[in-house]
Amino acid sequence: AIKKIAFIGLGNMGKPMAENLIKNGFALNVFDLNTAVLNDLAKQGANVATSPVDASKEVDMVITMLPAGQHVKEVYLGKDGNKGLLDVVSKDTLLVDSSTIAASDAREVAQVAAEKGIQFMDAPVSGGTAGAAAGTLSFIVGGQAEQFEQVKPVLEAMGKNIFHAGEVGAGQVAKICNNMLLGVIMTGTAEAMNLGAKNGLDPKVLASILSASTGRNWALEVCNPHPDVGDAMPSSRGYTGGFMSKLMLKDMNLAKQTANDTQVVTPMADQATALYSKHSEQHGDKDFSSIMAHYDANVLQ
Ligand code: NAD
Repeated sequence: AIKKIAFIGLGNMGKPMAENLIKNGFALNVFDLNTAVLNDLAKQGANVATSPVDASKEVDMVITMLPAGQHVKEVYLGKDGNKGLLDVVSKDTLLVDSSTIAASDAREVAQVAAEKGIQFMDAPVSGGTAGAAAGTLSFIVGGQAEQFEQVKPVLEAMGKNIFHAGEVGAGQVAKICNNMLLGVIMTGTAEAMNLGAKNGLDPKVLASILSASTGRNWALEVCNPHPDVGDAMPSSRGYTGGFMSKLMLKDMNLAKQTANDTQVVTPMADQATALYSKHSEQHGDKDFSSIMAHYDANVLQ
């Protein structure tokens, strides 16, 4: 069974995930470029490493939670003559990347690993920082069944739903399919809420009608883009907290990259991506339901 883990990338998501592993009794080596976060984890019992390579010595498993594909490739493959993890870890070390990156980048790292006899899995998450803190994330894993079963108990210490999506890269594909759909649904929901409100309907009444009808969806019920529909929604507190527009744009662009790589058309997502791209220039840090401002600029004033 897995006992000792290297955790690399301890930002908004990685830090609370690492804390849940410590609470569940795993021994942790930690590394991040930001040293403040390392001191904090050291107080909780983690062992602070000096580099990703240093962190990965003599561990059963490595977890990475980094911003984007370039960082993941740098850490695993090395850069500018510096060694990557794949140059130093033993063949039986299980490698799991939970960052959201292009499926093609995940497959590229997995290919180099496989040539050395090492197993690499992609395991992007859904559930945001609140899910990371509560230990209720969904992990969507791409990799071989045998390795999936080995890492599952570790992922269960950080998450509630642990899915095996298929081969390497399948986790990333499933994750961006979800977020691409969410981007389209949020935009469509804002469009419908705006049309109704501009035609005199009380947004709360309209939301309750749509939520009991065939237009029913998550954006409408849990994260309605129109202000004053639900007290606990980002739209009722100036679109703060929640899932930032620029992160939605990142995921929609990853979906587009995968679509282009495989000659698949995504006309609805293309429209929504164009709106998110323009919106993020000014409001990238606001919750993605603030796309409502494209229809009614008053909501952000
Ligand atoms: P973040 O920017 O808060 O954290 C990333 C961390 O990686 C930072 O602490 C940074 O210092 C560190 N880092 C960068 N390069 C490094 C390197 N070479 N070596 C070691 N550390 C390095 O980002 P986040 O919000 O934690 O997101 C991480 C990933 O999870 C992203 O791919 C994101 O798309 C995905 N994700 C985020 C959310 C969310 O709600 N924030 C939800 C689901 C998925």
